[in-house]
Amino acid sequence: MKKHSSFSTGGKAEYYAEPGNAYDAINALEMAYAKGLSVTVIGAGTHLLVSDEGIPGLVLSACGMKGMSIKGDLLIASSGETLDNVINQAIDHNLIGLEEIAGIPGTIAGAVTVNASANSRSISDMFFYADYLTLNGEIHRRPFFYDFFSRGTFLTDCLILSVALRLTPSRASAEARERKEKYVEKMYIPPSRRFSGEIFRDSRTMKASEAIKLAGLTGKNGSRAEFSEYQPNSILTYPGCSSQEIYTLIQRGRKTIKEKLGIELDTSITILGSFRDEL
Ligand SMILES: Cc1cc2nc3c(=O)[nH]c(=O)nc-3n(C[C@H](O)[C@H](O)[C@H](O)COP(=O)(O)OP(=O)(O)OC[C@H]3O[C@@H](n4cnc5c(N)ncnc54)[C@H](O)[C@@H]3O)c2cc1C
Repeated sequence: MKKHSSFSTGGKAEYYAEPGNAYDAINALEMAYAKGLSVTVIGAGTHLLVSDEGIPGLVLSACGMKGMSIKGDLLIASSGETLDNVINQAIDHNLIGLEEIAGIPGTIAGAVTVNASANSRSISDMFFYADYLTLNGEIHRRPFFYDFFSRGTFLTDCLILSVALRLTPSRASAEARERKEKYVEKMYIPPSRRFSGEIFRDSRTMKASEAIKLAGLTGKNGSRAEFSEYQPNSILTYPGCSSQEIYTLIQRGRKTIKEKLGIELDTSITILGSFRDEL
Protein backbone atom coordinates (compact mmCIF):
# COMPACT_ATOMS: atom_id res chain seq x y z
CA MET A 1 0.00 0.00 0.00
CA LYS A 2 3.06 2.31 0.09
CA LYS A 3 2.28 3.34 -3.47
CA HIS A 4 -1.29 4.20 -2.50
CA SER A 5 -0.70 6.33 0.58
CA SER A 6 0.92 9.76 0.54
CA PHE A 7 2.83 8.86 3.73
CA SER A 8 4.49 6.14 1.58
CA THR A 9 4.16 3.68 4.44
CA GLY A 10 2.06 0.58 5.05
CA GLY A 11 2.12 -3.14 4.24
CA LYS A 12 0.33 -5.08 1.54
CA ALA A 13 -3.34 -5.34 0.68
CA GLU A 14 -4.46 -8.97 0.58
CA TYR A 15 -6.31 -8.17 -2.67
CA TYR A 16 -6.30 -4.86 -4.56
CA ALA A 17 -8.61 -3.71 -7.37
CA GLU A 18 -8.89 -0.46 -9.30
CA PRO A 19 -12.15 -0.81 -11.25
CA GLY A 20 -12.72 1.53 -14.17
CA ASN A 21 -16.51 1.62 -13.84
CA ALA A 22 -19.46 0.49 -11.71
CA TYR A 23 -19.74 -2.83 -13.56
CA ASP A 24 -16.11 -3.79 -12.78
CA ALA A 25 -16.59 -2.63 -9.19
CA ILE A 26 -19.63 -4.92 -8.80
CA ASN A 27 -17.57 -7.84 -10.16
CA ALA A 28 -14.82 -7.13 -7.63
CA LEU A 29 -17.41 -6.95 -4.83
CA GLU A 30 -18.90 -10.28 -5.96
CA MET A 31 -15.45 -11.87 -5.81
CA ALA A 32 -14.97 -10.44 -2.30
CA TYR A 33 -18.38 -11.75 -1.23
CA ALA A 34 -17.66 -15.24 -2.66
CA LYS A 35 -14.34 -15.39 -0.75
CA GLY A 36 -15.80 -13.86 2.43
CA LEU A 37 -13.41 -10.89 2.30
CA SER A 38 -13.82 -7.56 4.03
CA VAL A 39 -13.79 -4.53 1.67
CA THR A 40 -11.91 -1.25 2.20
CA VAL A 41 -12.56 1.68 -0.15
CA ILE A 42 -9.85 4.24 -0.87
CA GLY A 43 -9.21 7.13 -3.25
CA ALA A 44 -5.74 8.56 -3.90
CA GLY A 45 -4.59 7.78 -0.34
CA THR A 46 -3.74 11.34 0.68
CA HIS A 47 -5.70 11.08 3.92
CA LEU A 48 -4.94 7.49 5.00
CA LEU A 49 -2.63 5.81 7.47
CA VAL A 50 -2.17 2.14 6.52
CA SER A 51 -0.84 -0.41 9.01
CA ASP A 52 2.66 -1.80 8.41
CA GLU A 53 0.97 -5.23 8.57
CA GLY A 54 -1.19 -4.29 5.59
CA ILE A 55 -4.94 -4.57 5.08
CA PRO A 56 -6.80 -7.88 5.13
CA GLY A 57 -9.45 -8.47 2.45
CA LEU A 58 -10.04 -6.45 -0.70
CA VAL A 59 -8.89 -2.85 -1.12
CA LEU A 60 -11.04 -1.15 -3.74
CA SER A 61 -9.51 2.02 -5.15
CA ALA A 62 -11.66 4.55 -7.00
CA CYS A 63 -8.63 5.95 -8.83
CA GLY A 64 -9.45 4.12 -12.08
CA MET A 65 -12.87 5.75 -12.40
CA LYS A 66 -12.40 8.67 -14.78
CA GLY A 67 -14.62 10.94 -16.82
CA MET A 68 -16.47 14.23 -16.49
CA SER A 69 -19.52 15.84 -18.06
CA ILE A 70 -21.07 19.27 -17.80
CA LYS A 71 -24.77 20.10 -17.98
CA GLY A 72 -25.47 23.80 -17.53
CA ASP A 73 -24.05 24.75 -14.14
CA LEU A 74 -23.67 21.11 -13.03
CA LEU A 75 -20.31 19.38 -13.27
CA ILE A 76 -20.50 15.59 -12.87
CA ALA A 77 -17.18 13.87 -12.20
CA SER A 78 -16.37 10.17 -11.84
CA SER A 79 -15.01 9.43 -8.41
CA GLY A 80 -11.35 8.90 -9.39
CA GLU A 81 -10.93 12.28 -11.07
CA THR A 82 -8.47 14.42 -9.16
CA LEU A 83 -9.77 17.59 -7.57
CA ASP A 84 -7.20 19.48 -9.63
CA ASN A 85 -8.62 18.08 -12.92
CA VAL A 86 -12.16 18.89 -11.82
CA ILE A 87 -11.21 22.51 -11.06
CA ASN A 88 -9.43 22.88 -14.42
CA GLN A 89 -12.40 21.44 -16.35
CA ALA A 90 -14.79 23.70 -14.48
CA ILE A 91 -12.79 26.82 -15.34
CA ASP A 92 -12.40 25.68 -18.98
CA HIS A 93 -16.21 25.58 -19.13
CA ASN A 94 -16.68 28.98 -17.46
CA LEU A 95 -17.79 27.50 -14.15
CA ILE A 96 -16.20 28.93 -11.01
CA GLY A 97 -16.38 28.40 -7.24
CA LEU A 98 -13.76 25.70 -6.62
CA GLU A 99 -10.59 27.80 -6.90
CA GLU A 100 -10.16 28.33 -3.13
CA ILE A 101 -9.80 24.59 -2.53
CA ALA A 102 -7.22 24.20 -5.31
CA GLY A 103 -4.03 22.50 -4.22
CA ILE A 104 -5.73 19.91 -2.01
CA PRO A 105 -4.38 16.57 -3.27
CA GLY A 106 -6.62 13.54 -3.90
CA THR A 107 -9.77 12.56 -5.74
CA ILE A 108 -13.13 14.27 -5.94
CA ALA A 109 -14.78 11.39 -4.03
CA GLY A 110 -12.15 11.60 -1.29
CA ALA A 111 -12.80 15.35 -1.09
CA VAL A 112 -16.54 14.77 -0.64
CA THR A 113 -16.00 12.00 1.93
CA VAL A 114 -13.93 14.20 4.21
CA ASN A 115 -15.55 17.50 3.13
CA ALA A 116 -12.22 18.90 1.96
CA SER A 117 -11.83 22.54 2.95
CA ALA A 118 -9.34 25.35 2.55
CA ASN A 119 -9.39 29.15 2.55
CA SER A 120 -12.89 29.28 4.14
CA ARG A 121 -14.39 27.16 1.35
CA SER A 122 -15.58 23.52 1.53
CA ILE A 123 -16.57 21.05 -1.15
CA SER A 124 -19.97 20.83 0.60
CA ASP A 125 -20.63 24.44 -0.53
CA MET A 126 -20.85 23.19 -4.13
CA PHE A 127 -22.05 19.61 -3.59
CA PHE A 128 -25.29 18.68 -5.37
CA TYR A 129 -25.45 14.86 -5.28
CA ALA A 130 -23.31 11.70 -5.28
CA ASP A 131 -24.07 8.33 -6.83
CA TYR A 132 -22.69 5.45 -4.81
CA LEU A 133 -22.50 1.68 -4.79
CA THR A 134 -23.20 -0.14 -1.53
CA LEU A 135 -20.96 -3.06 -0.68
CA ASN A 136 -23.87 -5.41 -1.46
CA GLY A 137 -24.06 -4.08 -5.00
CA GLU A 138 -26.89 -1.53 -4.96
CA ILE A 139 -26.57 1.87 -6.60
CA HIS A 140 -28.12 4.88 -4.86
CA ARG A 141 -28.09 8.66 -5.15
CA ARG A 142 -27.48 10.88 -2.13
CA PRO A 143 -28.69 14.44 -2.62
CA PHE A 144 -27.46 17.44 -0.63
CA PHE A 145 -28.52 17.62 3.02
CA TYR A 146 -26.29 19.81 5.13
CA ASP A 147 -26.16 17.51 8.14
CA PHE A 148 -24.51 14.69 6.15
CA PHE A 149 -21.40 16.83 6.13
CA SER A 150 -21.70 18.15 9.67
CA ARG A 151 -21.69 14.57 11.01
CA GLY A 152 -18.06 14.13 10.05
CA THR A 153 -17.83 11.48 7.36
CA PHE A 154 -20.19 11.77 4.42
CA LEU A 155 -20.85 8.08 3.69
CA THR A 156 -19.32 4.88 4.98
CA ASP A 157 -19.32 1.33 3.60
CA CYS A 158 -19.84 2.35 0.00
CA LEU A 159 -17.95 3.25 -3.14
CA ILE A 160 -18.83 6.71 -4.41
CA LEU A 161 -19.11 6.38 -8.19
CA SER A 162 -19.61 9.99 -9.20
CA VAL A 163 -20.14 13.42 -7.73
CA ALA A 164 -22.24 16.30 -9.07
CA LEU A 165 -21.24 19.86 -8.14
CA ARG A 166 -23.35 22.96 -8.73
CA LEU A 167 -21.03 25.79 -9.77
CA THR A 168 -21.35 29.43 -10.71
CA PRO A 169 -21.36 30.36 -14.42
CA SER A 170 -18.90 33.17 -15.12
CA ARG A 171 -17.09 34.66 -18.10
CA ALA A 172 -14.19 35.67 -15.85
CA SER A 173 -12.32 32.40 -16.42
CA ALA A 174 -8.87 34.05 -16.80
CA GLU A 175 -9.25 35.59 -13.33
CA ALA A 176 -10.49 32.27 -11.95
CA ARG A 177 -7.42 30.51 -13.35
CA GLU A 178 -5.14 33.09 -11.76
CA ARG A 179 -6.95 32.72 -8.45
CA LYS A 180 -6.62 28.94 -8.67
CA GLU A 181 -2.86 29.14 -9.32
CA LYS A 182 -2.44 31.48 -6.35
CA TYR A 183 -4.08 28.93 -4.02
CA VAL A 184 -2.09 26.03 -5.51
CA GLU A 185 1.11 27.98 -4.85
CA LYS A 186 0.03 28.57 -1.25
CA MET A 187 -0.30 24.79 -0.76
CA TYR A 188 3.06 23.98 -2.37
CA ILE A 189 5.17 21.43 -0.52
CA PRO A 190 8.69 20.61 -1.71
CA PRO A 191 8.82 17.02 -3.06
CA SER A 192 11.60 16.22 -0.57
CA ARG A 193 9.12 16.61 2.33
CA ARG A 194 6.18 14.39 3.33
CA PHE A 195 3.36 16.29 4.97
CA SER A 196 -0.06 15.00 5.89
CA GLY A 197 -3.38 16.80 5.77
CA GLU A 198 -5.15 17.56 9.06
CA ILE A 199 -4.72 14.82 11.64
CA PHE A 200 -7.45 15.81 14.14
CA ARG A 201 -10.82 17.45 13.74
CA ASP A 202 -11.27 20.74 15.60
CA SER A 203 -13.09 20.36 18.92
CA ARG A 204 -16.07 22.59 19.75
CA THR A 205 -13.95 24.71 22.04
CA MET A 206 -10.58 24.83 20.32
CA LYS A 207 -8.94 24.41 16.95
CA ALA A 208 -6.87 21.22 16.82
CA SER A 209 -3.80 23.15 15.62
CA GLU A 210 -4.02 25.46 18.66
CA ALA A 211 -4.40 22.50 21.04
CA ILE A 212 -1.33 20.78 19.53
CA LYS A 213 0.72 23.97 19.92
CA LEU A 214 -0.50 24.68 23.46
CA ALA A 215 0.28 21.10 24.51
CA GLY A 216 3.86 21.61 23.30
CA LEU A 217 3.67 18.79 20.79
CA THR A 218 5.26 20.37 17.70
CA GLY A 219 8.78 19.84 16.44
CA LYS A 220 11.41 17.16 16.94
CA ASN A 221 10.67 14.34 19.41
CA GLY A 222 13.30 11.72 18.64
CA SER A 223 11.14 9.78 16.16
CA ARG A 224 10.84 10.04 12.38
CA ALA A 225 7.37 11.62 12.63
CA GLU A 226 6.59 14.99 14.21
CA PHE A 227 3.79 17.53 14.38
CA SER A 228 4.80 20.32 12.04
CA GLU A 229 5.83 23.66 13.58
CA TYR A 230 4.59 25.38 10.44
CA GLN A 231 1.15 23.67 10.41
CA PRO A 232 0.70 22.02 13.81
CA ASN A 233 -2.28 19.82 12.84
CA SER A 234 -0.19 18.13 10.19
CA ILE A 235 2.51 15.46 10.50
CA LEU A 236 5.89 15.73 8.84
CA THR A 237 7.77 12.46 8.32
CA TYR A 238 11.40 11.67 7.59
CA PRO A 239 12.77 8.86 5.36
CA GLY A 240 12.35 5.36 6.82
CA CYS A 241 9.36 6.36 8.99
CA SER A 242 6.87 3.55 9.62
CA SER A 243 3.10 3.74 9.96
CA GLN A 244 3.45 2.57 13.57
CA GLU A 245 5.63 5.60 14.39
CA ILE A 246 2.99 7.91 12.91
CA TYR A 247 0.25 6.07 14.79
CA THR A 248 2.13 6.32 18.09
CA LEU A 249 2.63 10.07 17.55
CA ILE A 250 -1.12 10.49 16.94
CA GLN A 251 -1.91 8.50 20.11
CA ARG A 252 0.61 10.53 22.12
CA GLY A 253 -0.90 13.75 20.74
CA ARG A 254 -4.43 12.74 21.78
CA LYS A 255 -3.29 11.62 25.23
CA THR A 256 -1.19 14.73 25.95
CA ILE A 257 -3.97 17.08 24.82
CA LYS A 258 -6.49 15.22 26.99
CA GLU A 259 -4.17 15.39 30.03
CA LYS A 260 -2.98 18.99 29.61
CA LEU A 261 -6.08 20.68 28.15
CA GLY A 262 -8.94 18.31 28.97
CA ILE A 263 -9.94 18.15 25.29
CA GLU A 264 -10.75 14.93 23.40
CA LEU A 265 -9.86 15.15 19.73
CA ASP A 266 -11.18 12.83 17.01
CA THR A 267 -8.89 11.85 14.17
CA SER A 268 -9.76 13.22 10.75
CA ILE A 269 -7.35 10.94 8.89
CA THR A 270 -8.61 7.39 8.13
CA ILE A 271 -6.63 4.68 9.92
CA LEU A 272 -6.62 1.28 8.19
CA GLY A 273 -5.48 -2.08 9.55
CA SER A 274 -4.14 -2.95 12.99
CA PHE A 275 -1.67 -1.04 15.17
CA ARG A 276 0.00 -1.59 18.55
CA ASP A 277 -0.86 0.70 21.41
CA GLU A 278 2.63 1.71 22.59
CA LEU A 279 1.67 4.22 25.29
C1 LIG B 1 0.07 17.62 1.79
C2 LIG B 1 -1.41 17.48 2.05
C3 LIG B 1 -2.19 18.62 2.19
C4 LIG B 1 -3.57 18.51 2.43
N1 LIG B 1 -4.31 19.64 2.59
C5 LIG B 1 -5.62 19.55 2.82
C6 LIG B 1 -6.43 20.72 2.97
O1 LIG B 1 -5.95 21.85 2.88
N2 LIG B 1 -7.77 20.56 3.21
C7 LIG B 1 -8.33 19.32 3.29
O2 LIG B 1 -9.56 19.22 3.50
N3 LIG B 1 -7.60 18.20 3.17
C8 LIG B 1 -6.27 18.28 2.93
N4 LIG B 1 -5.52 17.13 2.79
C9 LIG B 1 -6.14 15.82 2.99
C10 LIG B 1 -6.59 15.12 1.69
O3 LIG B 1 -5.88 15.60 0.60
C11 LIG B 1 -8.07 15.28 1.41
O4 LIG B 1 -8.81 14.81 2.49
C12 LIG B 1 -8.50 14.55 0.13
O5 LIG B 1 -9.73 15.05 -0.26
C13 LIG B 1 -8.60 13.02 0.29
O6 LIG B 1 -8.84 12.44 -1.00
P1 LIG B 1 -8.26 11.01 -1.39
O7 LIG B 1 -8.77 10.67 -2.75
O8 LIG B 1 -6.78 11.00 -1.27
O9 LIG B 1 -8.93 10.09 -0.31
P2 LIG B 1 -8.25 8.90 0.54
O10 LIG B 1 -7.17 9.45 1.38
O11 LIG B 1 -7.91 7.77 -0.35
O12 LIG B 1 -9.49 8.50 1.47
C14 LIG B 1 -9.97 9.38 2.46
C15 LIG B 1 -11.33 8.85 2.93
O13 LIG B 1 -12.25 8.92 1.85
C16 LIG B 1 -12.83 7.65 1.59
N5 LIG B 1 -13.00 7.54 0.13
C17 LIG B 1 -12.11 7.90 -0.83
N6 LIG B 1 -12.63 7.66 -2.05
C18 LIG B 1 -13.86 7.13 -1.85
C19 LIG B 1 -14.88 6.66 -2.72
N7 LIG B 1 -14.78 6.69 -4.06
N8 LIG B 1 -16.03 6.19 -2.17
C20 LIG B 1 -16.19 6.15 -0.81
N9 LIG B 1 -15.26 6.57 0.06
C21 LIG B 1 -14.10 7.05 -0.47
C22 LIG B 1 -11.83 6.62 2.15
O14 LIG B 1 -12.52 5.45 2.55
C23 LIG B 1 -11.28 7.38 3.35
O15 LIG B 1 -12.12 7.23 4.46
C24 LIG B 1 -4.15 17.22 2.53
C25 LIG B 1 -3.35 16.07 2.36
C26 LIG B 1 -2.00 16.20 2.12
C27 LIG B 1 -1.17 14.95 1.95
